[in-house]
Amino acid sequence: MARYIKAVCRLCRREGEKLFLKGTRCFTQKCSMTKRAYVPGQHGASRKQKLSNYGVQLREKQKVKRMYGVLERQFRKYFEIASKTKGVTGKVLLQLLERRLDNVAFRLGIAISRAQARQIVRHNHIYVNSRRVNIPSYLISAGDTVCVKTKEKALLKIKENLEISKSITVPSWLEFSLNDLSAKVLRLPEKEDIQQPIQEQLIVELYSK
Ligand code: SF4
Repeated sequence: MARYIKAVCRLCRREGEKLFLKGTRCFTQKCSMTKRAYVPGQHGASRKQKLSNYGVQLREKQKVKRMYGVLERQFRKYFEIASKTKGVTGKVLLQLLERRLDNVAFRLGIAISRAQARQIVRHNHIYVNSRRVNIPSYLISAGDTVCVKTKEKALLKIKENLEISKSITVPSWLEFSLNDLSAKVLRLPEKEDIQQPIQEQLIVELYSK
């Protein structure tokens, strides 16, 4: 399974906004967007770019893709599924991204970034409806139960993550119990459940050309 392995702060700087790809570091003064809020590269600091319509659409697509840690091929696949599904294509696309198991683990605070959530899923620590699922792109459905079952060492790390992310509110489409580290998916996520501003219609326009 392919994934992006280079420096992730460059991605935020390229998009000109914080994408929160590094967990706790993103909330400190060490964040690259605090220190160098300009596009990466030799002339990044002096380059002032005026984007065309196409450029604006492309940047929005890249931003969302990078936020969720999805590569182009899979992102395009999500768009194709969304465009064939009943409903507003852009909103269905965001719903598909939110339904990914690694995103659910991140939203619950089990991991402090989506990259770490992906690793937790890959390492067999997450169960869906009492069955182990180690596929980060697995799509959860309404009514599913997601829980953590693991050995003590990994459990300690997960509890540490939960402590760090306790100030972050679990979205209302998930009901999380800290006692048994399990969550119920009450409904499918909506665009309004995503706090970061996303203009999904720009992505639809880009792919519809
Ligand atoms: Fe982005 Fe986080 Fe790096 Fe800041 S620290 S640039 S928010 S990944």
